[in-house]
Amino acid sequence: MFIRGFNKRMPIAENIARIHQQIKKAAQGAGREVLSVQLVAVSKMQPPEKIRAALDAGQRLFGENRVQEAQAHWAALKGEYPDIKLHLIGPLQTNKVKEAVALFDMIETLDREKLAIALSKEIKKQNKNLPCLVQVNTGEEVQKAGIIPAALPGFLDFCRRECALDIRGLMCIPPVDEPPALHFAFLAKLAKENNLKELSMGMSGDFEKAIPLGATFIRIGTGIFGER
Ligand SMILES: *Cc1c(COP(=O)(O)O)cnc(C)c1O
Repeated sequence: MFIRGFNKRMPIAENIARIHQQIKKAAQGAGREVLSVQLVAVSKMQPPEKIRAALDAGQRLFGENRVQEAQAHWAALKGEYPDIKLHLIGPLQTNKVKEAVALFDMIETLDREKLAIALSKEIKKQNKNLPCLVQVNTGEEVQKAGIIPAALPGFLDFCRRECALDIRGLMCIPPVDEPPALHFAFLAKLAKENNLKELSMGMSGDFEKAIPLGATFIRIGTGIFGER
């Protein structure tokens, strides 16, 4: 993948600084507050020394795809750095909900009723405040997770009324073979129609397109840590 400005030899601190510059430029160009866009550093499949380097550079918000890997990466570090925030950005199986609720600060991939029910129960049990995003399958791809757009209003209603979940916004992963901006604009429209504030969209290759369209969380792995 080609990532503008990325240099394999660059230390992680410089990669993070460069991405903050790119966020600033994209936000200012769109007339948005720079601080309205948060950088989620995606640490999946990265070695501990690279994660340390990101922490040393001041990064505190991280994204992980898998519950078990996230526990291995973060269980000890969360004790050392109490201000670390972790987002789950990969699919969540209901048999991992207990661990996920204990570890994460946001679930970005809420995508079905069974999961909403399981999360609701576990959140009550652990007496925790755990905001969630609903993943939307904007391209309606058969192999991809996420609620199809037509089912979103009903699903949001279910999550709020039946499960009392704290739904803050929407997340999407656009199809690889389509212009991502179309999907970002669509997700933003869905969020607006449903009165939701947060939009998790944009990865290493396309976050500069997601910011003018309203991204509040961008999820960057390769652009910070290099190839996995
Ligand atoms: C891996 C992953 C990312 C990061 O992708 P990069 O292209 O490496 O920045 C973002 N979002 C999700 C859901 C991912 O699984």
